[in-house]
Amino acid sequence: MNETKGKGERKGISRRSFMKLAVAGPFVAAGTASAADLGKSKSARSATLGLLKEHESIDHIYEISPDYKPFDQINLLFSNMSSFNRRTNDPTDPDYKERQEIRNAFGMYVAKADGIVEIMRAVKLAGKSFDEFLAALGSHSIPFPPPVAKVLWENEKIEHLFERAEEKGWSQLDYAFENAGWSVDHFGARLSEGGVSGRFKHFVGGEMRDGLYAWNRPPWPTVYQFKDREEATRIVKKASLFLGADVVGIAPYDQRWVWKKRFNIYDGTHEENTLPFEPKSVIVFGFEMDYEAYKTTPSAIGDAAAGICYSKMAVTGHSVAEFIRKLGYQAIACGNDTASSVPLGIQAGLGEGSRMGPLINPFFGPRIRLSKVFTELELISDKPITFGVKEFCMTCKKCANACPAGAISFDDKPSFTVHSCVSNPGIAKWYLKADSCVRWWGEIGSDCGHCITVCPYNKPDLWPHRIAKVATHFPGTRRLAMALDDAFGYGKFYGTPENAKLIEDYWKRL
Ligand code: SF4
Ligand code: SF4
Repeated sequence: MNETKGKGERKGISRRSFMKLAVAGPFVAAGTASAADLGKSKSARSATLGLLKEHESIDHIYEISPDYKPFDQINLLFSNMSSFNRRTNDPTDPDYKERQEIRNAFGMYVAKADGIVEIMRAVKLAGKSFDEFLAALGSHSIPFPPPVAKVLWENEKIEHLFERAEEKGWSQLDYAFENAGWSVDHFGARLSEGGVSGRFKHFVGGEMRDGLYAWNRPPWPTVYQFKDREEATRIVKKASLFLGADVVGIAPYDQRWVWKKRFNIYDGTHEENTLPFEPKSVIVFGFEMDYEAYKTTPSAIGDAAAGICYSKMAVTGHSVAEFIRKLGYQAIACGNDTASSVPLGIQAGLGEGSRMGPLINPFFGPRIRLSKVFTELELISDKPITFGVKEFCMTCKKCANACPAGAISFDDKPSFTVHSCVSNPGIAKWYLKADSCVRWWGEIGSDCGHCITVCPYNKPDLWPHRIAKVATHFPGTRRLAMALDDAFGYGKFYGTPENAKLIEDYWKRL
């Protein structure tokens, strides 16, 4: 049986052309790519990045402690942000104070969800009660159950968000755009990032219903026989790209990245995260966030870019799982639930880890969202790749300097030091102070993502940027690449006139 080597696939790229051009050399590829528009191909972009290397496994790239343990979902940031987390509310828990702060920030953070701020303002101005606020929400789709809405209702800091609704980037137009981006996720995969895996309680009426990540759809009774694993892998990847992924890779099933216990945000239950079958492969998808919209972050426009990816994650994940089930094999789709996406994305050859935390992909940099499908179908795994991200991060620190919350490490090298109760120890990396990050989200009433926008790897696919990415690969030109990045004005800080203009101009261009 033939093995498919290497990296994840991308729309419109043949693996053969990638292999040819990858050996042609970065500068040659950068030149030819610009002439022949090969920049849209994986081959040109990978070659542009320079000496992209394949590795046998994630353990060959990262130092993983023998004491590493799979994470409990109850410790995830989003689980802590819900008010039902026992650990969050237990005064005897050693991290009680930190967990409370995270939870309190949550109220402000969700304030932007589906225009709740405007509805709450109208209800409060009319002197109505919390129950009347819930009634006024009516059929507006919000991603959180009523007790969470109560945390928000009682949060005094909400007042300043009332004023913000008049600002550019936070107006009804911008919120409508943001809500449209998130709408499929909210309608069909709600709380994929928080707790339930599949079935969720719909806000309106409180009934349980199946979502796009539901685990209860059986495989077709007859089993389609692939010629071999290579054919199965090629077909599954082709279908994944057709069904909406921008990049796709295959990881081996590795229990280390599957949550040990699953947390249900609705009732606070915390149970063994037993998958319904023994998976053999994990199909990992990447979805590009729109560059122009995302560079306005933090704003409702920027959040629309994240939201539409979450919606695509649900649609593509569900559709690919359904394709495999209709071929007679078991498969389940997951968003941020069930397992950690970043190590699976690394194992699937979709990119490298970074100082700021997200995976950095050779095509889209950190401007990418991940989801996955676990299946019993045996597929050929891609190999993890490196293309100099860790070495560049050791010099760069641009995200750490730009982070308004001081949440990103300035350490020169990766280490095992964790800073927050919502981090899982045991891997040498740069750990995020996730509690500081989410407090900032609470301050501004939105996701932030500013670290992603300032990262030198976050660039549209234009030939000068390809050459700049080559420069990041070599010690002698790393500082030059950073200086040029600054000189061209990338990554302007939130609150600057340049950033305000980006937001103001967003709706003026088609
Ligand atoms: S999202 Fe914002 S607050 Fe959080 S780490 Fe990135 S820059 Fe810092
Ligand atoms: S901004 Fe710089 S240090 Fe931060 S993740 Fe990107 S390359 Fe690494």
